[in-house]
Amino acid sequence: MVSQLISIQPKTYHFHQVDACNMCTQDASTAKVLGMRLNQSQGKNPRSKTGIAVSICKCRNCGLNFPQPMPIPNDISDHYGIPPDEYWKNNSYFEKDTHYFSRQINDAKRLLSFNNGMKALDIGLGIGKAVVAMKNAGFEVWGIEPSKHFLNKARELTGLPENRLQHTSVEEAKFEDNFFDFISFGSVLEHLYDPSSCIQKAMKWLVPGGVIQIEVPSSNHLMPSFLNLYFLARSTNFVTNLSPMHPPYHLYSFTLDSFRINGEMNDYKVEYHYIDVASIRHVPKMFHPLLRTWMKVRKSGMQLTVWLRKAD
Ligand SMILES: [Zn+2]
Repeated sequence: MVSQLISIQPKTYHFHQVDACNMCTQDASTAKVLGMRLNQSQGKNPRSKTGIAVSICKCRNCGLNFPQPMPIPNDISDHYGIPPDEYWKNNSYFEKDTHYFSRQINDAKRLLSFNNGMKALDIGLGIGKAVVAMKNAGFEVWGIEPSKHFLNKARELTGLPENRLQHTSVEEAKFEDNFFDFISFGSVLEHLYDPSSCIQKAMKWLVPGGVIQIEVPSSNHLMPSFLNLYFLARSTNFVTNLSPMHPPYHLYSFTLDSFRINGEMNDYKVEYHYIDVASIRHVPKMFHPLLRTWMKVRKSGMQLTVWLRKAD
C-alpha cells in the first residue's frame, strides 16, 4: 500500500492507494475515473476554487464509487469531533418524532417473525433516536457510537445505561458471536474505510437467519451525474460524487450489486431493498417534481436501503 502524508490546515491526511474494490475485490486499476473531487464545495464558479483533490472512481464490476487515493485523516476527530447540533444544523432533528425509524422497525419485524425481547444493535447510534424507537417497539437494545459528543447527547436523551450505549467504533467493538437478531447501519457504511470487513464483523454478531439493515448513498443517484454536466460545461473535470475530505465525509456510494457480490463472499443474501429519492438540492424548486418522478421511475434516487439475511 502506497502512502503519502499531506497537511491541509487544520487537517492532516494520509493518502492510501486503493488496490481493490472494497465490496467485490475487483482490481481497482480497472475502475472508471469519474473525475476529481476537491476538499470543499466546488460551487458555482469552480475554476476559482483552490485546494487539493482526489479522483473519484467507479468499480466496473459492482458500481461502488470510491476515492483514489483514499484520504485518511491522521486524527478522526478532524472529521467527526464536532458537537451534534453543529453536525445536524437542522434543529428539527432533535425534535421528538413518533414515526422515526418506524418503516425499518416494521420491515425488521416482518423479516424476523418478531418476538418481544429480540436483541437489536444500532451501529453509529448518533443521538439515539433509532435506539429509542426500537426499544419502544419491544426490542432489547444496544448501540455503539465513536463520537463522545454524540454519545453523551444520546445518553442524556435516552436515559439508557452505559453498558447498552457504548463509546466505540464498529472496528473496535466487541460482542458475542450469534447474539443479535437485528443490526442497523443507518448512514454509517459510507463513512467507514473498510465497509466490507465491518459487514463481515457484524454478520458474526448476528444469529443465523438474523437481519442487517443498511442505508447508504446510491451510486446510481441522478443528481451527481446531472451536476457533473455543469462542471463539464465550466471546462473542469470536477465531479460531485462523494465528499471524502469535507462534510458529510462520504467515502463510498453503493449499488445493489455491491451487496449481492459481497454477500456471495460473506455468507449473506440481500433479502429486500428499496431506493428513496430523498432530498433534492442545488436545483430550482420548479424542477423538483419532474426530477422526483424521473428518479422514481429510473430507480436513481439518493438513498439505497438493503436488508441482508445471514445464512442459516
Ligand atoms: Zn466492486
